Parts: sequence; structure tokens; C-alpha cells
Amino acid sequence: MSYTTIDDAATANAERTGEDRDSTSQQAVGRLRDKFGRAITDLRVSVTDRCNYKCVYCRTGNEGAQYTELAIADYLRMVRRFVALGVEKIRLTGGEPLLRHGLVEMVSELAQMRAAYMPDGTHTDVGHPLDIALTTNGHLLEGLAKPLKDAGLNRITVSMDAVDAETFTAITRVPRSFDRVMAGIRQAKAVGLGPVKVNCVLLRGFNDSQIEQFAEFSRREGVIVRFIEFMPLEEDRSWKPETVIPMDEVVGRLNAYRPLVELAPNAASETAKRFTFDDGLGEIGIIAPVSRPFCGHCSRVRLTSDGKIRTCLFSQSDHDLYGEIVRGGTDGDLNAYIRKVVMRKEARHHIGEPDFEKPSRNMVHIGG
Ligand code: SAM
Repeated sequence: MSYTTIDDAATANAERTGEDRDSTSQQAVGRLRDKFGRAITDLRVSVTDRCNYKCVYCRTGNEGAQYTELAIADYLRMVRRFVALGVEKIRLTGGEPLLRHGLVEMVSELAQMRAAYMPDGTHTDVGHPLDIALTTNGHLLEGLAKPLKDAGLNRITVSMDAVDAETFTAITRVPRSFDRVMAGIRQAKAVGLGPVKVNCVLLRGFNDSQIEQFAEFSRREGVIVRFIEFMPLEEDRSWKPETVIPMDEVVGRLNAYRPLVELAPNAASETAKRFTFDDGLGEIGIIAPVSRPFCGHCSRVRLTSDGKIRTCLFSQSDHDLYGEIVRGGTDGDLNAYIRKVVMRKEARHHIGEPDFEKPSRNMVHIGG
């Protein structure tokens, strides 16, 4: 199977626009944008690349953490620079972020920060609070949901690739993990972190038999289930196009289970196509970076646990923002560095194309 990668007009347009511009031009003022004109408003921060799960499609199971962790104060300093330039959504991730000591205190600090731009793009000193989200495998969530909510966390996404305990354990390779994650999801709802999003990466022949059960799960548990197409970001290089379950196939299966009704996107940069069922019960999102790339609307950059900026999941290199701190950089120096790096953000990924090259890091070491 092959995939057409430029099927959203915005992606193709971004490529054209970028080619037309002087790629060496630097933007010194205004909110953070790349050379294609995309505003960068979302930052994903990995606070560790350690993980307590060994999901078969993500990790080999033999390798541990590979990169340094920084002091929480260092992450906060770097986040402040991004926020000053226009970032307003922060997603904490890893590795497994709930393993990281100091996470709750980090959320409290993030909750004090204010966006630097109004929705109309004008600069402000009294902006709105940031949108603070977290992606977790849920294993330690039952005990941490309330402290995180109290610290100011707004939203939570729990990764869960099966809705029965046996398949779940086969994927995570950690015994008795399913019940712990379920307890975490229920506790997150109970403390007001709902609606909880549950992310499932579908792999053909492995957990695709669960699609309809996930639909039932969404309706029964009151969670938003999001199916994500498998991307070539795994440690052991097992990705094959045939393993990906494309969006159209998932939609077909769900429609056969019960008629779907499409929901309007929450924002132009939303990565998921959203659906409910004909009775309005349950919500399903489908994120299709492989069969329907959304790079033209990409508003993200990532900060790795060792303080490197990655401008795309599929980047061939990363950029040492923490190195600028070590060299004694001022806030102004860090701002200039971030602007320079963001200017080089890739137009799009090349999954499924002959010239595709595996990125320089795998998902667990980037921060998904
Ligand atoms: N440990 C946390 C968790 O489990 O959510 C955060 C890190 S994990 C790397 C973030 C997300 O990336 C998870 O939802 C995981 O399923 C997803 N992921 C990992 N490898 C992937 C791949 N090759 N393609 C698509 N998603 C992937």
C-alpha cells in the first residue's frame, strides 16, 4: 500500500509558500511563525524518556532511557521563552511523565504563566492562562490525578491500546496494568479532568479487532476515544504500510457498528476528525497522519527531555536550546535561538514516500 502525502491543501500551499520566500529571512518580532507562515502555538515538553511500559509497537523492551533529564526549573525557563513568543498550549509528555519527580510543582508553575498574545494576535501583558495538558499511560494516574488537577492541569490524555486486560498486557508487557489504568481514568474523571481522551494506536493483526469494543467503551465510560494511525517512530524499525489501519477503514468499521455523525472541528489546527453516533452517545476522534497528513496546519514544536527543540516528529536533527542556557544565554538570546530554529520547521513529513528517512529519535525519546 502507498500513501499520498500531500492531500491537504494547506500542506501543499505551505510548501509552495515556503519555496517562494527567502528561507534565510529571520522574523525578529511578533508571534512565533515558521517560514511557511504557520503560527507556533503548541509546545510538547518531554520531562523524561524513561517509561514503565514496553509497548510492543514503540519499544524493543531491551533499551532504557537514552537522554539526560534536566531540572524542572530549566524546562520552566525554556517554556517561558516559548510562551513569551506566542505558545499557549503546553502538553507534558515523555517517556512516561508521571515517573518524573517534581511534575506537580511544574504544573503549578505553568498555571501561573499567561499567554503573550490575544486571540486577534495583538501582544498583551495580561493574557489568558495557558492550556495545560498531559499525555500518560495512566499507570500511576489514580494517585496523581487530584494533585495534578489541583495544581492547574486542564486536560489529560491516557494511552490505551486495548479494552480487554489480556490484549492490554500483551501490548504493554506489564502484568496487571489494565486495572490500574482503568482506575486512573475513573479517578481523572472523578476529580474533574474530564472529558478524558483515550488514545489508541491501531495495528493490523494486533488490536484492530478492538475497534467496535473501543466504540462501546467510549459510550459506556464517557471518554473520547481517539484512534491514531501507526507511524514509523518505533525503536525496532518494524513499521510497514500494511500494518497501518487507515482512517477510511476505521470509519467503515464504526459505521457498520452504528451510524456515525461527523462533528465540527474544535479548531482549524485540530488533528482529529471527530464523530459521534446517531444517538449522540460517545465520541470518536481519528488522527490520520499517514493517510491524511495535516502538516499544513501544524502549530507544534517539541522540547525533548534533554532540552533539544524538535520542529517535526520526523526531523533528522534537533536543536540544543539547553546548550544556549549552558553557554550563559540571556532570555533575548534564547528568544532569538527559538525564532531561528522555528524558521527551519519542515514543510511536511514524507511517510510512505521513497525518500522517507527514519527520524533521528524514536517516539519514546522525543515525546509524543
Ligand atoms: N508514556 C506516555 C503515554 O503512554 O501516553 C507518553 C509518551 S507516548 C510515546 C505518547 C503516545 O505516542 C502514546 O499515545 C503512544 O501510543 C504513541 N505512540 C508511540 N509510538 C507510536 C507510533 N509509532 N505511531 C503512533 N503513535 C505512537
